[in-house]
Amino acid sequence: MKDLLKEIEDCRQNFSQSLEKIRDKASLEEIRALFLGRKRGKVTALFDQIKNLPPEDRPLIGQKLNDLKKEIIAALQKKEIELSEIKEAPEEKIDLTLPGKKRYLGSPHPIMLFLEEIERIFLEMGFVVEQGPEIETDYYNFEALNFPPYHPARDSWDTLYIKDDLLLRTHTSPVQIRVMEKQRPPIRIIVPGRVFRREAIDPTHLPMFYQVEGLVVDEGVTFAHLKGTLEYFLRALFGEKTKVRFRPSFFPFTEPSAEVDIECTVCRGQNPSCPVCGGSGWKEVLGAGMVDPQVLKNVNIDPERYSGWAFGLGIERTAMLLYGINDMRLFYENDLRFLTQFRRK
Ligand SMILES: [Zn+2]
Repeated sequence: MKDLLKEIEDCRQNFSQSLEKIRDKASLEEIRALFLGRKRGKVTALFDQIKNLPPEDRPLIGQKLNDLKKEIIAALQKKEIELSEIKEAPEEKIDLTLPGKKRYLGSPHPIMLFLEEIERIFLEMGFVVEQGPEIETDYYNFEALNFPPYHPARDSWDTLYIKDDLLLRTHTSPVQIRVMEKQRPPIRIIVPGRVFRREAIDPTHLPMFYQVEGLVVDEGVTFAHLKGTLEYFLRALFGEKTKVRFRPSFFPFTEPSAEVDIECTVCRGQNPSCPVCGGSGWKEVLGAGMVDPQVLKNVNIDPERYSGWAFGLGIERTAMLLYGINDMRLFYENDLRFLTQFRRK
């Protein structure tokens, strides 16, 4: 019987501790069920033990348990009233004197703005924008463009390989092949996109950069069309009076090939120690040439009937020249002080 008296006392303490923690009506109901529930209530369980006691002890324990039950019922009632009296938190007031939050308007990345500008110039001339995959096969990136396996020209186009035959494209030129495979001349496309090279990062080299590629294939297309189109493009971009020159060069996929320079926008050839052009007065902006007849044969276009030209330029490098930026890495460091200087006109 002593044990039972102690259990009654423990139950009483247990209840008052639980009651203290109650902050809302839902937990109040949980406590009510926990102690007074008909099947598993703690007090109910104690009542059940009475029948095991010797008859002479039963009245005392019964009395004690009834007292406990009444106490619990009264305490729960009191708590319920308290809870319903707690007023909800006063409504939040708006302080009109606080300064507002400033919202910053985003803007396209300078590379995207520059690409848009280039696309606009070529769209006006009747070109169409095409795109292709950044992960290419060896065939599209090299072989179809006249780079046979082990050809030394591959060295300057080294890249990251995913598998023996799968690589990150080193130029946008594979898209030339993809378009010529599915479309017959006349073809007039430009291909903007990301390209990858195995390069150590420095102010003028990055392992990932943007290029724009151009391709025209039709009957009677000559080097004069190439020259006229590129001169028009470069003057639209850099200004009416920009001087342009073509120098002989080599690319595996064009013959003849040329590199195209513009007059140095910083010194106009007047400063022998110019940091931008090294005093030469010229800056290389793009590579170009007549599409090699073998490349046309690779896509079943008859080189006796059709001819074409192509060009490619690096977006970052050209943007640096136009805006007087001296470090290519600035484009990818996400420094807002740099990025916010470029906005759509
Ligand atoms: Zn210069």
